[in-house]
Amino acid sequence: MYDLEEEKVIKAIKERKAKRILLQFPDGLRIYAFELARKIEELTSAKIIISADPCYGACDLALEELKLFNSDLLIHYGHAKIPKLNEEKILFIEAHAKVSVKPAILKAAEMLKHEEKIGLLAAIQHLNSLTEARNALEDLGKKVYIGDANGKTIYKGQVLGCDFAAAKNIADKIEGFIVISGGNFHGLGVQLATGKKTIVADPFLNEARSLNNLVELTIKKRWIQIFKFSECKNIGVLVSLKTNQLNLELAEKIKKEIENKGKKAVLICVREVTPENLDSFINIEAFVNTGCPRIAIEDQSRFKKPILNPEEALISLGVAPWENYGKTLLKLKESI
Ligand code: SF4
Repeated sequence: MYDLEEEKVIKAIKERKAKRILLQFPDGLRIYAFELARKIEELTSAKIIISADPCYGACDLALEELKLFNSDLLIHYGHAKIPKLNEEKILFIEAHAKVSVKPAILKAAEMLKHEEKIGLLAAIQHLNSLTEARNALEDLGKKVYIGDANGKTIYKGQVLGCDFAAAKNIADKIEGFIVISGGNFHGLGVQLATGKKTIVADPFLNEARSLNNLVELTIKKRWIQIFKFSECKNIGVLVSLKTNQLNLELAEKIKKEIENKGKKAVLICVREVTPENLDSFINIEAFVNTGCPRIAIEDQSRFKKPILNPEEALISLGVAPWENYGKTLLKLKESI
């Protein structure tokens, strides 16, 4: 189902004369890990170690393990390289899905039949199918826009759960977005960030989904957490230990803003933001997570206390305008 680029991997290992190699996979690709590791060991003289720690993005590279095992190469599957990352010992295999996107795109187009100008985006697994999708939409008479990469992305039309630059820079020109993705999170972020109607085209299920209900539910849930946070006095500001999530400067800024409002705050560094790691801080009433924004949006229900993203915390403290959060949330706030 995915292009794991085995020939490219074997060639790279031989060219680099790599002897010890670390493999890193997101959950969805781990089903291939055993066979891949065995195959690489058979076809090269390299020894393989597979990382089983959680891995949700290229923000989370196993660099410590790379050093610990004195490995020659980290092969990171399932995500695209992050811009300006200077690490010669990493090979990114993006694992493009080998499925046609056309059936899902046609269903998405039917849900946007009144919109003519369409913004097209894709998660990395389907980015190689943007041309197929664009052609299918243009055959229906749609005008298709694909936004440029910026920030944390490197490809036109690429969207991450924490980077919607390719959506934002065309949002004014289009009437609706189609996001090609297996899950809803990327599309949810696009609609929250732009306020534009967004349809997920899911090539694995061959279906299209409107996100209106999910967006409304998410906004209501976040509104409640933002309100609860405003009543908390003792706050933990989380600094991620993951390579490209770490942002101490932002964490220190948030801590200062919290203290400026007469509340107390401490910095807490953490690799995995889980209830198990946070629940024992019993006299901390709420957290701000300066790492992955997905945790607050998707996993809040697993935590007993509010976990806010930095933008939400600044809004709750009254030091940032609602516009900073997202156009959809701004609309909701105005209607309350
Ligand atoms: S959404 Fe989270 S896991 Fe995905 S790239 Fe951004 S920080 Fe990493």
